[in-house]
Amino acid sequence: MDWTERIAANLAAVNERIRAACARAGRDPAQITIVAVTKTHPPEVVRAAAVCGLRVFGENRVQEAKAKIPHCPSSIHWHLIGHLQTNKVRDAVALFEMIQSVDSLRLAEEIQRRAEQAGRRLPVLLEVNVAGEASKSGYSPDRLLEELSALNALPRLEIQGLMTVPPWSPDPERVRPWFRKLRELKDACEDRLGAPLPHLSMGMSQDFEVAVEEGATMVRLGTVLFGPRASTVRPIPVEGADPGTGD
Ligand SMILES: *Cc1c(COP(=O)(O)O)cnc(C)c1O
Repeated sequence: MDWTERIAANLAAVNERIRAACARAGRDPAQITIVAVTKTHPPEVVRAAAVCGLRVFGENRVQEAKAKIPHCPSSIHWHLIGHLQTNKVRDAVALFEMIQSVDSLRLAEEIQRRAEQAGRRLPVLLEVNVAGEASKSGYSPDRLLEELSALNALPRLEIQGLMTVPPWSPDPERVRPWFRKLRELKDACEDRLGAPLPHLSMGMSQDFEVAVEEGATMVRLGTVLFGPRASTVRPIPVEGADPGTGD
């Protein structure tokens, strides 16, 4: 099977699972956007995914995205979903339509500065480390509430909601409380801001149905669409190279 057939079959199964999760939760499937996570996958996979109708793509590293995005269709939308260092903000602002991983005021201020230089306003999500895991970036819930008004005062950032990567478990039911916690934190943020936050980015291949049941508006899916990732990043083919000669 080629990539397009494989992704089309996987996407049909995912859409059916999202539909069923929405039915259980009394939600409308139109409220959920799939963010296709293409890290480690080459542009040919992105092109095939776009042919299948996927429109929003996620990358977790700026360097990789910078090499990849110029070789991908210009009609699709890119979101940064991985930790962002301040020295990469300028590139990130040029490459991505949304940054889902804002995790400090210092980073937000740098995005403000670079977005102003670029003459744009950038939709962002605030990343929350819901379980306080030492290995993960993201705001602690307390810190987020402390910094929220300062974040909201940055005119070039448009805060659209929250994002999380919760503790991993083979049993998605064990992740449910973390998704619920993110939703409750979004409610608390809306109270403080006096304005609605439209997005909750939560749920990955392992647990997206539970995330949908708990209110996700964006699910970030890699493996379930594209299969397991190689442990190393494959080189990006040169523009114009025959796509049929890859491995
Ligand atoms: C890789 C990644 C995903 C997708 O993970 P899968 O388990 O392959 O679906 C989602 N979110 C983030 C932040 C990621 O880095």
